[in-house]
Amino acid sequence: MIVVRTIEDLTSIRSTSAGIGFVPTMGALHEGHLSLIRKAASQNESAWVSIFVNPLQFGAGEDFSKYPRTEEADFELARSAGCSVMFAPDVATMRLDSSTTVHVSKIAYSWEGQHRPGHFVGVATIVLKLFNIVRPNVAYFGWKDFQQCAVIRRMVDDLFVPVSLEFCETVREHDGLAMSSRNRYLSAEERAIASLLWRTLADLRTALKTSSEEETQELLARSSTRISQGGFALDYLAWVDGNTLEPITQWRPFARLIVAAKIGTTRLIDNLSTD
Ligand code: AMP
Repeated sequence: MIVVRTIEDLTSIRSTSAGIGFVPTMGALHEGHLSLIRKAASQNESAWVSIFVNPLQFGAGEDFSKYPRTEEADFELARSAGCSVMFAPDVATMRLDSSTTVHVSKIAYSWEGQHRPGHFVGVATIVLKLFNIVRPNVAYFGWKDFQQCAVIRRMVDDLFVPVSLEFCETVREHDGLAMSSRNRYLSAEERAIASLLWRTLADLRTALKTSSEEETQELLARSSTRISQGGFALDYLAWVDGNTLEPITQWRPFARLIVAAKIGTTRLIDNLSTD
């Protein structure tokens, strides 16, 4: 695996590469990231990974400064998962003072966009910069960040970005908690109850399968109470259309239950297909 820090060095390698599968990350790699890297390596001539803790996607008062940075361990994990080129630029290289930013409207305004204003502008801007630097054939993202997948897909469609997108299943801990770099913030007590989010989504999905449209709000309200009473500060719990992110009350294909909640100072998100 080659580690590259500058755009010039990356460009010189790229000219000799074909068939790039690309996995953008913020590092602190875990099995979720590694599943994406393995898939990229198995489906392309080479797998490229970026690690960049993107300041643009953190709001004021969020965890940018304490976000885990574990570069050496990440390099080893990425290499063992099949990464052949690791792009790890510094902030200056990514030119964050650029005048051009990418605003994906509507689907980026709700849910995460509402609770983290500016978040998806930061995500879309950096992902497009990375696409233009790496020029991958295929880029891999996790369904774990469901709204992010929708935002990036819309950006790629709207701007005719020449890349194929692959979305990959969420990798979970043994008790159902979605793997996340932020899970390492959890205390032992918080970790013990963190899987309540996943269990609530799973039970809600089962209940929605046999309920009427009129019962949907009641089921969502009861599940919200369960999460709050379990020790979380709930930001949202909703059943949404997977394309528009609009709330729904009745089953349809490609719908998702989405949730975001804080436990202590740690904010967790998760989602589950109701197909
Ligand atoms: P991050 O480093 O959190 O920006 O994540 C980088 C990529 O890994 C994104 O496409 C995430 O959706 C994906 N990812 C994060 N956690 C998981 C997980 N538990 N399972 C699958 N993909 C994940």
